[in-house]
Amino acid sequence: MRKLVFATNNRHKLEEVGDVLKGHLEILSLKEINCFDDIPETAATLEGNALLKAQHIFENYGYDCFADDTGLEVEALDGRPGVYSARYAGEDQNAARNMEKLLGELDGQLNRRARFRTVVVLIEGAKVSYFEGKIEGTIIEQKRGSAGFGYDPVFVPDGYSQTFAELGSEIKNKISHRALAIQELIQYLKKK
Ligand code: IMP
Repeated sequence: MRKLVFATNNRHKLEEVGDVLKGHLEILSLKEINCFDDIPETAATLEGNALLKAQHIFENYGYDCFADDTGLEVEALDGRPGVYSARYAGEDQNAARNMEKLLGELDGQLNRRARFRTVVVLIEGAKVSYFEGKIEGTIIEQKRGSAGFGYDPVFVPDGYSQTFAELGSEIKNKISHRALAIQELIQYLKKK
């Protein structure tokens, strides 16, 4: 089976993507290629950040690879925090504080529509390809559930009454923004 490096230090992403790719593609983690770098995420778009991460690995380690970048786009906040979702409440990238800030900003707000958007960038030799996955839903008023990571406890995907953190990985990995982007990647690799 083909192997590709997944340029992430996030163990939750590794697990989720590994699950979706099972039977299609083997993942090499950054640890497995002896990369312990703090990879820069300084672009102003999800596409730009995903590209920075993949380029870092391709240019410094020479592996074909893919990377993802995800943002939570909240309608009442004009798409914020978006590409700044990780550092929404500060540089320490604390999920609890990020959710607290989000719930504070939405306090009293009736429009709670939001979407997660993931961009995946694949670099193979000189070729760069982009894939995207989105899921629409709502931000609830109080955190619920303990599975997953990031903003999962406050996001209820459309068609469900539970948060991603309550639904758990089996359902999340079938319907999520990241799962959909990875499905696109799988279809692309299959056609080649
Ligand atoms: P990044 O893609 O690692 O830059 O993630 C940006 C921010 O969104 C971080 O705060 C993550 O914790 C959060 N995030 C990314 N993916 C998910 C997800 O699948 N569920 C909930 N939060 C996420």
